[in-house]
Amino acid sequence: MATLTHQRTNVSTWTKLYTETGKLPQSKVGCNTCSNYTTLFGDNLIKRVARFGTIKLLLETFKCRFCLSDTKPDGVQRAVIVDRKPRKKRTDTKVAREEALMVTVSSMKHTYRTTTVDLVKNASECAVTTKGSCFHPNLYLDNGRFCNGCALFDNCACAIKKLKR
Ligand SMILES: [Zn+2]
Repeated sequence: MATLTHQRTNVSTWTKLYTETGKLPQSKVGCNTCSNYTTLFGDNLIKRVARFGTIKLLLETFKCRFCLSDTKPDGVQRAVIVDRKPRKKRTDTKVAREEALMVTVSSMKHTYRTTTVDLVKNASECAVTTKGSCFHPNLYLDNGRFCNGCALFDNCACAIKKLKR
């Protein structure tokens, strides 16, 4: 394909040629915003010239369809609206996730003890704390699964507690 020349380098020559022959030096017209070339000749060119008013105006202001859709106000609006919907959904999910996190944190706050309890002296607290699991598993396992030596033994409520004789 022959090298394309942008019409803006010589608008007057292009205008003169079109006025005299109804044709342009090449079958493509360059976009005035980007570097795209658009095929434009014959009936299509005549229609375009009619839309622009004059050939000179067409050559000086012509934009390819990509640049044209970028500057069309309603085209932009449509693109934004299409883009907005899924974005809103993502935000809702994020908010829901944050709310779920808040519930977990605040409910945990209630179960956390803020007072220090001496489990050796406080029998009932010791029973509550040891009910589900051994409080000194290291001692228990090191001791061959016996509780000998554990300070909590007397009040421990753990099901696995036993003494080695
Ligand atoms: Zn363009």
